[in-house]
Amino acid sequence: MSTTSRGTDLDDLIADVEARNPGEPEFHQAVRDVLAPLGPVLEAHPEYSRARILERLVEPERQVIFRVPWVDDEGDVHVQRAMRVGFNSALGPYKGGMRFHPAVTLGTIKFLGFEQVFKNALTGLAIGGGKGGADFDPKGRSDGEVMRFCQALMSELYRHIGPDQDVPAGDAGVAAREIGFLFGQYKKITGHYAAGVLTGKGTGWGGAQVRTEATGYGLVYFAREMLAARYEDLDGRTVVVSGAGNVSLFAIEKAQELGATVVGCSDSSGALHDPDGLDLDLLKTIKLEERGGLGEYVERRGGEASLDEGATPWGIPCDVALPCATQNELDEKDAERLVKNGTTLVAEGANMPCTDEAIAVFRAADGVAYAPGKASNAGGVAVSAFEMQQNASRAGWSFENTDERLQTTMREIHETCRRTAAEHGLQDDYVAGANIAGFLRVAEAMLAQGVV
Ligand code: GLU
Repeated sequence: MSTTSRGTDLDDLIADVEARNPGEPEFHQAVRDVLAPLGPVLEAHPEYSRARILERLVEPERQVIFRVPWVDDEGDVHVQRAMRVGFNSALGPYKGGMRFHPAVTLGTIKFLGFEQVFKNALTGLAIGGGKGGADFDPKGRSDGEVMRFCQALMSELYRHIGPDQDVPAGDAGVAAREIGFLFGQYKKITGHYAAGVLTGKGTGWGGAQVRTEATGYGLVYFAREMLAARYEDLDGRTVVVSGAGNVSLFAIEKAQELGATVVGCSDSSGALHDPDGLDLDLLKTIKLEERGGLGEYVERRGGEASLDEGATPWGIPCDVALPCATQNELDEKDAERLVKNGTTLVAEGANMPCTDEAIAVFRAADGVAYAPGKASNAGGVAVSAFEMQQNASRAGWSFENTDERLQTTMREIHETCRRTAAEHGLQDDYVAGANIAGFLRVAEAMLAQGVV
């Protein structure tokens, strides 16, 4: 483990982060992952250590936690906890989604915000890193309940956000419907149509084309680059994704378009295996329109489709695995099963879906390429940044133009990861490449902006 010129060992810093942020294991994990490959970089740049860049990076610039009381359809009052963490603004306004999920804690939001700093840096765009969320469970809630909750949340959040300050968007549990309610309340309170205050808006009123598809499409574009680096492509390959939300559905769509057969996905009911290839229209109807479960897919699809209740989809043999559900959903045993079944490419669509142990299995296996989410799922936030550009100039780009730019961005992130890894003597190491490249861009900006 390397030592900085101020005598701070990376292990000491990680221990310090753990002690100062008790009960936040996911945040510790995210910090460990980013810091692990930085030893040689810090040795080459003693100025970073003198300026305490790392110590500043692991401490959010600001954290706001607030109460959100709201009334359900029966007239019962509920109290939720919401938060917004502005992690780093060296490269631009805080940028990152809002997550609504009953398990959300400050530790969850801090891990996501920390990841977001480096992901956003990798896009090459002018966005800092932030994240927010609430322990609200949207499952089974009516549109009216979701609207009242979003309005109650924005009644406090509005004072902390703005197009040049902090720009929230969606994440798990927050999509176009929620962004619409949040935007409406922001506009109502402030009296300003500040389109650039939120991204992921409807395409008819300031939202970017391709934003809905961007994370899933971008993931598959990134996987395509990984395959191309070893003279392969997606045509004829079998793919398994996890999840059945926004990221997964559009990853399935793009993978199918590029000639792959997607044979599995999952939701909270279990793992769906459809050896003939998923019927995406049926899946979209059930998941997006009816907000139903995968059991309904099996009933309506017939054939050989089956649901393994409560299981993860990682036992289904595939060439390419795309974990798109949630953090730490793929563990060491899952990784071993995938490798044993011949998987040669794993690219993360969710944030931190593979445990550290699972990543170690992929990295140790011969011929397996593994990409961390901060590189492979950056397409969503990249198109959010495109949305900010369009809002600032009151312009609207076509679907084709935006999709073209998304493809270019993913190609550039891929190149940046590979080049950076190679420069540090680590061929084909996407983990080191992504973390080092993201870190260098943020560190340079922080250094230039002084001790703030
Ligand atoms: N929640 C997404 C992510 O994890 C997108 C955030 C955004 O568009 O601001 O990157």
